[in-house]
Amino acid sequence: MTSGRDPIFERQLDLLNHGLALLAQRNPFYRRKLEHVRLPLPSVDALRRLPFTTKSELLDDQAASPPYGTNLTYEPSEYTRIHSTSGTTGRRLKVLDTEASWAWFTRCWQHIYRAFGVGRGDRVFAAFGFGPFVGFWAGFEAAHQIGAQAIPGGAQSSLQRLDAILECRATVLLSTPTYALRLAEVARESGIDIAGSDIRATIHAGEPGASIPTTRSQIESAWGARAWDHAGLSEAGPWGYECPEGEGMHVIESQFAAEVLEVGGDAEVGEDETGELVLTNLGRWAAPVVRYRTGDLVRLRSTPCACGRAFLRFPGGVLGRADEMVQVRGVNVYPAAVESIVREEASISEFQIEIFERRRMWELRAAVEVTEGPKPEEVKARLEKELHRRLGLRAEVSLAPVGSLPRFELKARRFRIQREGSQNET
Ligand SMILES: [Zn+2]
Repeated sequence: MTSGRDPIFERQLDLLNHGLALLAQRNPFYRRKLEHVRLPLPSVDALRRLPFTTKSELLDDQAASPPYGTNLTYEPSEYTRIHSTSGTTGRRLKVLDTEASWAWFTRCWQHIYRAFGVGRGDRVFAAFGFGPFVGFWAGFEAAHQIGAQAIPGGAQSSLQRLDAILECRATVLLSTPTYALRLAEVARESGIDIAGSDIRATIHAGEPGASIPTTRSQIESAWGARAWDHAGLSEAGPWGYECPEGEGMHVIESQFAAEVLEVGGDAEVGEDETGELVLTNLGRWAAPVVRYRTGDLVRLRSTPCACGRAFLRFPGGVLGRADEMVQVRGVNVYPAAVESIVREEASISEFQIEIFERRRMWELRAAVEVTEGPKPEEVKARLEKELHRRLGLRAEVSLAPVGSLPRFELKARRFRIQREGSQNET
């Protein structure tokens, strides 16, 4: 630990001890989990002695005590908002907030906007469906809290959204990186000049894309804007924003305690190593998570940052899901690494990747759509060679008809992992 981080730990310890005392007293879910923990904690390090919280545990709890489970610190009538996880895999987790805990959620978002220089005079367009998934709900609310104009972009086609962006002279776009590229594709097809629009910044979440240099530069050149990455999840909250100096994703450590642990284990990874992010939110005590295993893969860096912030950072942002990582001859292969190579081919508009184990060897199969350029066969051959050379995987690339692969508005599902002898697919 560096001394520059001591004030962060002091603040975290105060918040933690205040919140844990409350949970031990009033939250049935955590009262059980904290039963044998001596409070107050003497240091933030002591957090590591507490049990983990997992998503399946929260889902089981809601199934056993329907509909909301027991992770409630207050009377059910105090809860004024309900969201649910995006449900890309299986059951959806319901996440409840009180007025106070939702205010904390939007405060984290205000922090993100400030880091990106967004504020009064900006017009923020949320290209988002405004369904039960928390997605950009808080980003939308925080936009007007910081004095910007918030423009809802729900229940519209891509073309209608592009029209609204131009008509309202939006300056900031909120969307997944995939959807920013999809809007750009539709604009191109319809002869709409989005690079000449007022959009000056795009803010992304939900997928690794915006921190992958090749994906980012595609977004930036299509929109003529600066693309920013942000990270969060319904269960924990909006926890990170991209460093203005390009040094990675900073954790908002004034509101979250973060650990990076070995995938599937409980040992901390070393500096610059990749592991699973484990989060404790420090202000959402009505809907808390303590040592929550996010399943997100990040690379840890804690040295002082060029931007002057002392907050931890993760170079390359969220790299993918922990269960999507495989080791090929000692090299970690994860979605962001694969996407970064695929996106180097600017003519590829959409893709699907399957990584599978055969006779104890990992292989990769990719289907790609090539929309521009005269020779798709050359793109295919080049991509096979690059994937093999840089990931050490035998790769087979096939060309898919243009428009045939799935398009995504929320979180893209482009990766599939098939482990040998296992029925578990991700
Ligand atoms: Zn920084």
